[in-house]
Amino acid sequence: MAQQETDQQVENDGFVVDTEDCEARELAHRERGTARPITVVGNPVLHKECKDVTSFDDDLARLIDDMFASQKAAEGVGLAANQIGVDQKVFVYDCPDDEGVRHVGVVCNPVLEELPAELRVLDESNEGCLSVPTAYAELARPDYAVVTGQDAEGNPIKVRGTGYFARCLQHETDHLYGRLYIDRLSKRDRKDALKQMEEGTARYETVPNA
Ligand SMILES: [Zn+2]
Repeated sequence: MAQQETDQQVENDGFVVDTEDCEARELAHRERGTARPITVVGNPVLHKECKDVTSFDDDLARLIDDMFASQKAAEGVGLAANQIGVDQKVFVYDCPDDEGVRHVGVVCNPVLEELPAELRVLDESNEGCLSVPTAYAELARPDYAVVTGQDAEGNPIKVRGTGYFARCLQHETDHLYGRLYIDRLSKRDRKDALKQMEEGTARYETVPNA
């Protein structure tokens, strides 16, 4: 079977190669795009499942460019479309894994793979979110994650990550199903995160809630 030619090359085992030419790929997207303000907790677009991406066209390419520009402007390591107010299942990332290796890519219509129990090692690190500015909380998540989905051209892809990047893949997929990381916290920790947000000031432009 012929290997598909895409700007995200696919390895033989089906996992996308997202560690090569990171700097050039991220820069190209960002230079074509425009940074948009970030939606914050309370904005309805963040609290419902986004629509599937069905058209892998120029509009989607432009959205992805804007998402890279927005991610950079806000100094994020991952960004979901609803975080710039767009109701589409797509996220971008620029994130190091547990070995410090940088991963840059985009996933449309992501689905998190269920891990077999023996592969589920929980990592209890700090997590934050551009849509909950200035707040951080410890949250246990598996330290390995596999997401299946499609690239910007609609080709099926699989992305895997370890450590912080595994956390990022889970966090961004959650976003597109209307779930924020604070929704996974205890009632008390959630309240504390919201208080941190109230007391802090975002270092980037946000969309005021109505
Ligand atoms: Zn987030």
